[in-house]
Amino acid sequence: MPSVFFFEDECEDKFLLGNKGANLVTMTKLGLPVPPGFIVSIEAYREYQRSGKLPLEELRRALSWLQKKTGKKLGDGLSVSVRSSAPASMPGMMDTVLNLKDEDKIISAVKRVFDSWDNLRAVEYRRLNKIPSDLGTSAIVQAMVLGNKEKNSGTGVVFTRNPNNGQKRLFGEYLDRAQGEDLVSGKRTPQPIETLRLQMPEVYAELERVADILERHFRDMQDVEFTVEDGKLYVLQTRSGKRSGRAAVRIAIDMVKEGIISPEEAILRLTPEDVRALLYKQLKPPVQYRPVAQGLSACPGAASGKVVFDPLEADTKARLNEAVILVRPETSPEDIQGIHAAEGVLTSRGGLTSHAAIVTRAMGKPCVCGAETLNIDLKEETLTIGDLVIRKGDEITIDGDTGNIYLGALPLQEAEATTELKELMSWADSYKRLGVWANADTVEMILQAKKFGAEGIGLCRTERQFNSPERLSAIREFILAQTPAERSEAINHLQRLQKEDFIDIFRALDGMPIIIRLLDMPLHEFLPSEEETTDPQVKERLRELREVNPMLGHRGVRVGVTFPEIYQMQIDAISEARAEVPANVAIMVPQVITVQELLWVKKYIKDPALKVGIMMETVRACMRAGKLAQEADFFSFGTNDLTQAVFSFSREDVERKFLTTYLELGILEHNPFQILDIKGVGRLMETAVSWARKEKKTLEIGVCGEHAGEPLSIRFFHRIGIDYVSCSPFRIPTTKLVAAQAALEQKGAPISAPSESAAKDASSVS
Ligand code: ADP
Ligand code: MG
Ligand code: MG
Repeated sequence: MPSVFFFEDECEDKFLLGNKGANLVTMTKLGLPVPPGFIVSIEAYREYQRSGKLPLEELRRALSWLQKKTGKKLGDGLSVSVRSSAPASMPGMMDTVLNLKDEDKIISAVKRVFDSWDNLRAVEYRRLNKIPSDLGTSAIVQAMVLGNKEKNSGTGVVFTRNPNNGQKRLFGEYLDRAQGEDLVSGKRTPQPIETLRLQMPEVYAELERVADILERHFRDMQDVEFTVEDGKLYVLQTRSGKRSGRAAVRIAIDMVKEGIISPEEAILRLTPEDVRALLYKQLKPPVQYRPVAQGLSACPGAASGKVVFDPLEADTKARLNEAVILVRPETSPEDIQGIHAAEGVLTSRGGLTSHAAIVTRAMGKPCVCGAETLNIDLKEETLTIGDLVIRKGDEITIDGDTGNIYLGALPLQEAEATTELKELMSWADSYKRLGVWANADTVEMILQAKKFGAEGIGLCRTERQFNSPERLSAIREFILAQTPAERSEAINHLQRLQKEDFIDIFRALDGMPIIIRLLDMPLHEFLPSEEETTDPQVKERLRELREVNPMLGHRGVRVGVTFPEIYQMQIDAISEARAEVPANVAIMVPQVITVQELLWVKKYIKDPALKVGIMMETVRACMRAGKLAQEADFFSFGTNDLTQAVFSFSREDVERKFLTTYLELGILEHNPFQILDIKGVGRLMETAVSWARKEKKTLEIGVCGEHAGEPLSIRFFHRIGIDYVSCSPFRIPTTKLVAAQAALEQKGAPISAPSESAAKDASSVS
């Protein structure tokens, strides 16, 4: 094999030529104006590494070819650059040597470029970006074009489309009478690319033509380096351009319309983060406020709320529906709950890879970090910026897109389901197999879910409806009732209230199916705490109801069986509401362990049109999936509780106390509450699905819970034949995207046999 490859050769192998080199060959083939040259291959680099020797013979021959090709002699009208080129993007990390005029200098320069693979900067960059250290680099030798001539010359970098918003128009910088290095070094301030259009309209038009050819060939937005010598355009480099999430979506959609890519490709190349970027809240324009400070934009989106310094307090406040911004010097794993509860997070220390930044990004929660002008006093609970003192409870707004911090709660606007989003979703809908439903308890959330394209409501919890004061007092009356008469009066009251709720909900559904879950919460949670009450009767009842471990105690269907009035009341309220507003309703029973429980609840149901299914959230239910399938109309895996049960974990304790250590030590690969534990919980699910379907082929099986919106987990649910996932309304678009990706990726790939796919899942932690 030769050690030197010419731009005019056939070979476009990036593992031999590096990205830059391979793309120069491609551009030459496309007939674009590329200064001629050749590439000393990565194989030659390897040989150089082993023996210290360069292929001098070939190099010299190539140089004399270059002189013939250009009709100029080295040092007499011809100079060359020697450029690095690796199979991975390592922008600016290795050496480039320009303006070389004799053979010996060129041979030192090739060595220098090869050696620069191992310079400190490059090594550190590879380590941070997980780029294998044995990829190696080639050295490109290319005839120089001179952008630093006096007239009609210059250099620039353009994106073929706007990387911030995706608009189809050249976007970039130009510097006249300059070479590439002048542009990067920042010695002279470049002008917008618009200047080139004004100074040399034909060159600009040529650049647009080049951009179009490149985009159509590479089928993506490009980031192009070019130089103009004496009014003639030369292209020196192209690569796919980095872009914001919003731009990524717009570019993908536009490229489908321009016939550059197919809708399938658009779906496959977008990431959930790209789509999520369309859903963040933003400051309502026009934004004419002056920020009081600025930090790093760690996670996009805007949020406002009262300043809180204590994570636990953030949690308490959020439970009372108060919007809070958690302000800390920096965050640590103990603060997770507070971060969860807050609308947004603001820190004065730490960069874009700090704990706060990473955690908020995973949650999609607005975050500004490392705002160093902030002086946070945790003891006094104050935040000082210069003369300005902000106290606990004062309202602020943070903008994770800009890193700006504002005083007061500024008007924000919710993400709208834009035409772009709708278009993308219609493609996703046409490829995906998984149904995408929403978890929604209120009319507001149902409307939200519809806006984002939910196909049904997969989990409507009834707990939330007891939260308002009137309902809370009604259920307390029931719990505290002394006589059967009191009890039945209380239950009738509740039934009237629930019926009203369901009527509102059914109206909002407007034909969409809904699964209503019967009461799941332990009863004592509806009572005040012991300290809060002086009423001896309440105290007495509290003592009776007290549990050692409420989450494993008297809750779910167990309450339904022992207090039959409650489930009966809920079921009757649903039936009565349905009689007034027709709706496609199914009832779901939580915490089931045995078929007898299900049969028991079924006795309460008089309306044959009401389907009854169960939450699959106990290990026993999974082990009895076949039997349960005979009696249930559908299953819905509650993966949060199921994960707790399979791991014997109590989520809050685990996340607060030791999960981080486990992740750091590699004992666990992920937080199993965020990413489904495929090998354990997943395998149990897969087994349950196959047993259930053996009994009832057509059994509808869904997943509700946080995992239903998480990409890796969604792929797994697709693989094991889950029918639908039900996630929070805001996650619907990303969930649909991933569901479509899963279906497209699987096309052609064989479906693995049940209970093998979980075990085969490639990961180091078993
Ligand atoms: P990197 O991309 O790793 O920073 P390059 O190999 O692209 O390094 O070189 C940096 C810059 O040097 C280029 O953007 C270009 O402006 C200039 N340059 C490189 N080779 C030539 C050449 N043959 N003619 C004119 N300018 C060149
Ligand atoms: Mg470059
Ligand atoms: Mg549950």
